[in-house]
Amino acid sequence: MPIVPSQAGYPVNRRTNCPHIQDHVSPDWAKVTVDVSKPCTVCNDASENWRCLECQGVFCSRYIKGHAAEHNQGTSHPISVSFSDLSTWCYACDDYVTDPLLKPIEAALHLSKFGTIPPDSGDIEIASEENSTAGGEGTSGSASKA
Ligand SMILES: [Zn+2]
Ligand SMILES: [Zn+2]
Ligand SMILES: [Zn+2]
Repeated sequence: MPIVPSQAGYPVNRRTNCPHIQDHVSPDWAKVTVDVSKPCTVCNDASENWRCLECQGVFCSRYIKGHAAEHNQGTSHPISVSFSDLSTWCYACDDYVTDPLLKPIEAALHLSKFGTIPPDSGDIEIASEENSTAGGEGTSGSASKA
């Protein structure tokens, strides 16, 4: 695959062999609605947050109050995705990581942040909090099934 700079600003060199993604990313994650404007659940700061891909908690970065790192230390949930640049960080690898499993997650975040899914997302289906018809596949069902 050619290396193309992403409009989302991913770090270029991401680890592709993180062994933790498979065990710690919920397979249902892509069905969870994503809102990149969610504040930290601990301190309510909304400026720079990460979402834990295991329990879906939202926590602020090390440049705010470090609640994401604190969450990792308290729970051993290793995988978080950034609301700022949509990159995925593994605390266990101590590195940025990427994996095909993360594609729906990255697409859902991209949709929430930019209003579109990335062009290389294929036919991923995403639950959007807005009633977006970006998929164009006759989403006749109601969005909320509460
Ligand atoms: Zn890892
Ligand atoms: Zn916080
Ligand atoms: Zn967690």
